[in-house]
Amino acid sequence: MTESLSLLGQAASPTPQLLGVLGEPYETVCTAAGCDAESGPQEIQDSAQRWALRHSGRTGHGLFRRVVSDHARVTRSE
Ligand SMILES: [Zn+2]
Repeated sequence: MTESLSLLGQAASPTPQLLGVLGEPYETVCTAAGCDAESGPQEIQDSAQRWALRHSGRTGHGLFRRVVSDHARVTRSE
């Protein structure tokens, strides 16, 4: 039995059908000293961005690290 690695899609532009498979690839993390706030994983990029805008509005923090995960699933071939 061998194993092959199949890429299910590009996380940067997942199609709606793949969202359930790819999970939540977008996350935004505040980089301000002493602040470890983060958006948590989001399904769509706009959600992570809106979190940053809200956090900036509350705290004045203005620099964020944006994380995009690329998911891959390993499948066994018979
Ligand atoms: Zn912050």
